[in-house]
Amino acid sequence: MTVEVVEHDIVIVGSGIAGLRAAVEIKRNYGDKLNVGLISKVQLMRSHSVAAEGGTAAVLYREEGDSYALHAWDTVKGSDFLADQDVVWLMVKLAAEEVRLLEHWGLPWSRRPDGRIALRPFGGHSFNRTLYAADKTGFYEMQTLYNKLLEYDGWERYDEWFVTNIYVDEGEFKGLFTLNPRDGNIYLFKAKAAILATGGAGRLYSFTTYSHSVTGDGLAMAMRAGIPLKDMEFIQFHPTGLVPSGILITEGARGEGGYLINNKGERFMARYAPQKMELAPRDIVSRAIMREIVEGKGFIDEVSGLEYVQLDLRHLGEDKINDKLPAVREIALKHAGIDPVEEPIPIRPVAHYTMGGIHTDTYYRVLDKDGRWIRGLFAAGEVAAASIHGANRLGSNSTTECLVSGRITGILAAEYALKAEEAKEPPRDRVAAEEDWVYSLVKRESGTPSYMVRRELQDTMGSKFYVFRTEDGMRDGLLKIVKLRNIMRSDAYVEDKSRVYNTDLILALETVNMLDIALVIAKGAITRLESRGAHYRLDYTKRDDVDWLKHTLALRYGEDDVSLYYEPVRITTWKPTERKY
Ligand SMILES: Cc1cc2nc3c(=O)[nH]c(=O)nc-3n(C[C@H](O)[C@H](O)[C@H](O)COP(=O)(O)OP(=O)(O)OC[C@H]3O[C@@H](n4cnc5c(N)ncnc54)[C@H](O)[C@@H]3O)c2cc1C
Repeated sequence: MTVEVVEHDIVIVGSGIAGLRAAVEIKRNYGDKLNVGLISKVQLMRSHSVAAEGGTAAVLYREEGDSYALHAWDTVKGSDFLADQDVVWLMVKLAAEEVRLLEHWGLPWSRRPDGRIALRPFGGHSFNRTLYAADKTGFYEMQTLYNKLLEYDGWERYDEWFVTNIYVDEGEFKGLFTLNPRDGNIYLFKAKAAILATGGAGRLYSFTTYSHSVTGDGLAMAMRAGIPLKDMEFIQFHPTGLVPSGILITEGARGEGGYLINNKGERFMARYAPQKMELAPRDIVSRAIMREIVEGKGFIDEVSGLEYVQLDLRHLGEDKINDKLPAVREIALKHAGIDPVEEPIPIRPVAHYTMGGIHTDTYYRVLDKDGRWIRGLFAAGEVAAASIHGANRLGSNSTTECLVSGRITGILAAEYALKAEEAKEPPRDRVAAEEDWVYSLVKRESGTPSYMVRRELQDTMGSKFYVFRTEDGMRDGLLKIVKLRNIMRSDAYVEDKSRVYNTDLILALETVNMLDIALVIAKGAITRLESRGAHYRLDYTKRDDVDWLKHTLALRYGEDDVSLYYEPVRITTWKPTERKY
């Protein structure tokens, strides 16, 4: 068969904030010297990053009392001490320059009355340091980066191309297999270096803030290539998902002064975090909400059966809501028929962020199981675990990490590619095998529709690996995941048999990826016998620094299992202490 080949100096998988930032960095430093391919399985600007609402954290005005040390400390404490402290320092030091660059490139940050950039409070940050553009920050960041990229030539976009696998051999990145939906063929991408910026895995849960495209593909393909995944048991549940859809009500709503209330009208956070109240870190607020619900102090949504508490913004008044939280009002009106000016908003904890990710070093170079850099390969943004967020991410630190890691990987990939002799490619005879693998699901004539497997997986994750976890529950969940993996392998099929724009097939490929990631989350969570950050076990309620102050690393083991090993946390400045808010 003829093999379709595409060649670039550097290929970036993912066009969210991390991918676009990396592309801009390569272009603004090296111009036409390096040719870039930018692949996204959705239209470039529809990457989930556009949905980021609340803001981006950076130390902007040190003269007002904020400091790098304070931002770093807040992040480390928020992470429940699982963050690698050298990476945290790196991020907080580079953050201010990043947000200023965006300002110069045209981002309309919200302003103070005196015209300076405004900052809002965010959970777990002990200083107001979150920059925002109303509550549509991600949209403006994406737009600004994209506009900047348009100033340059020498890059090509591959919208709606779906990367199926990455090829790593002899400790080196050697190319990608990619499905072009327009002709249904597998194309082989050659490059000297690659940056994986494929985002998280939020869609493993059905009650999630994430777009349908966030299915952990990059994580799964890294694992299939023998790359370890780090700390995947830590999934963040954001306290305020709109009931019943799960759409995010930004933490900015509490940052601007919103209250959480139970069915007795109490501001219950007074009992869980007396100082920080609604602005305690997300893991703590989510647990508080679930405790209220378990104790019968919640409400029930008659249609979905979901239990919830309320987010009350009424006291902020119509003008402030319109000015600072226009999208919150619009979302509540459109998706719950509630006007927050008049009524409280029904919310409950919702799957929101993948703290774990591809194992990298401090500079986002992807590592193998022996801790050696896989030459030419980088990971940036949510898919990477460097690790800044440890067991619990602070709000508004993710877009910061996307910007900083995009910049770092852009520079490092460029420097590597400039020195590399030639673009690497996978063996061409592998393309046929890749195509067989991709189309095996289409060949099957009947069985279980793959979308049913996806739905059952999401239900399992939502019930067994949610805010409160137990050994029995998680073991049930693991059995179910294994069963669904078997169904996917031996019985699942896709109804659409066409080769052109077969979105049914792409959904099935994503489901395969989701099942790979679910297994890692389940094994990591069952094995970690403590509660830390977002991983909270009712049977081991305490953090255990003696045995568990360490990163979980998961490696693919045979066709159908994962093996775990552990690595120490890099503690450079702060020893773990009790987390009080
Ligand atoms: C609703 C919402 C609000 C948020 N608000 C905030 C906030 O206010 N502040 C904050 O700091 N963080 C926020 N976050 C988190 C933050 O937005 C994300 O962590 C961040 O945007 C992730 O960016 P990324 O560049 O890593 O990936 P994404 O933006 O998720 O992009 C992933 C890219 O990878 C591509 N891709 C994936 N798989 C494949 C494949 N197989 N083949 C080809 N391409 C592929 C996709 O097409 C896409 O282009 C929010 C998240 C959500 C969901």
